[in-house]
Amino acid sequence: MTADLHTHSTASDGQYTPTQLVRLAKERGLDALALTDHDTVDGLEEAVLAGERMGIRVIRGIELSAREYPTFHILGYGFDPESPALSDLCRELKEGRDQRAPRIIAFLEEQGVRIPLSEVEELAGGQIMGRPHFAQVLVRHGYVSSNREAFDRYLDTSDFHRRVERPKPLAQVCVETIRAAGGKASLAHPYQIGVDTGTLEDIVRNLAGCGLDAIECFYPKHTPEQQSFYLRLAEKYGLHATGGSDFHGERVKPDVRLAAWELETDWLLE
Ligand code: AMP
Ligand code: ZN
Ligand code: FE
Ligand code: FE
Repeated sequence: MTADLHTHSTASDGQYTPTQLVRLAKERGLDALALTDHDTVDGLEEAVLAGERMGIRVIRGIELSAREYPTFHILGYGFDPESPALSDLCRELKEGRDQRAPRIIAFLEEQGVRIPLSEVEELAGGQIMGRPHFAQVLVRHGYVSSNREAFDRYLDTSDFHRRVERPKPLAQVCVETIRAAGGKASLAHPYQIGVDTGTLEDIVRNLAGCGLDAIECFYPKHTPEQQSFYLRLAEKYGLHATGGSDFHGERVKPDVRLAAWELETDWLLE
């Protein structure tokens, strides 16, 4: 079926509400959409209900941040959203984000950049506060001209990652928590981990041993060479291939549209 298995809504740092996102997916002609907000299941029930109304399959998903690298994400699918272990992990991750927020403001102030935390909180609407919220407020105040520039200059620098990290679980814990909640786990956008191919293979081998089900082989920013390498890795370690756009809405990521990957999803929907 044609599916996009990696998208974000206002429950985390996306632009559209779960209902609006499902409508966009329906208009795009997708058979299935997975909502995979960062560290929260809060948008899922709204998305599933919207999918039932509009006649498109909505898969419950999540994107958990792991500790080992600055951008190391594990996608989860089809879990019980009320699983106590998953709820506990989400609560801890949200607390970590809330405690990070004033530290980001202080980090920016040291560089002569002053934005009010209240504006970032308002934009996040009491839900998951992500760096893209800070980026949009930096644009609004004229410190940068785009979200990309906000990340390049302030929010994705080595200084940022050294000084303003937040508590995150090990990748193994992300995989095991998703599996314990009855779900399937996929390694998100492998290239963003930023490691060489040998190290990536070590990561995949270890996580496969912990219950990893799949690799996100299909991703708009993967080169054809990366895609075939990830497909070979999946094959070698007995993993499935997932695909998603990482759509956040054009205000958050101007260059990313919903994707329509042709995917084998029986293993995911069983
Ligand atoms: P957080 O989990 O709040 O630390 O931030 C993760 C979010 O920031 C994800 O939506 C990423 O897509 C986004 N992000 C991280 N690095 C960059 C970057 N260099 N440019 C644009 N967006 C980024
Ligand atoms: Zn995001
Ligand atoms: Fe991600
Ligand atoms: Fe994402």
